[in-house]
Amino acid sequence: MSDKKNQCIHCSVKSCRHLKQDQGLCGLESVQIAPTPMAYSGDPADESMCQSYHCK
Ligand code: SF4
Repeated sequence: MSDKKNQCIHCSVKSCRHLKQDQGLCGLESVQIAPTPMAYSGDPADESMCQSYHCK
C-alpha cells in the first residue's frame, strides 16, 4: 500500500472540478479509468477515459 502514497496523477482537463490547475494535478487519491465506446480503434485518444471526471 505504501506505493499508493507516492502516486501522482498528472492531468490537464481544465473543465474537471478535481483538477488542481495551478499544479496540473488531480486532487483525488485515485481515479477510475475505463474504455470508451470508441475503444479498439487503435487511436490512443479513443481507447481510455477518466470515469472520475466531474464537470465544474
Ligand atoms: S478526475 Fe480525472 S479528469 Fe478529473 S482531474 Fe482527476 S484525472 Fe483529471
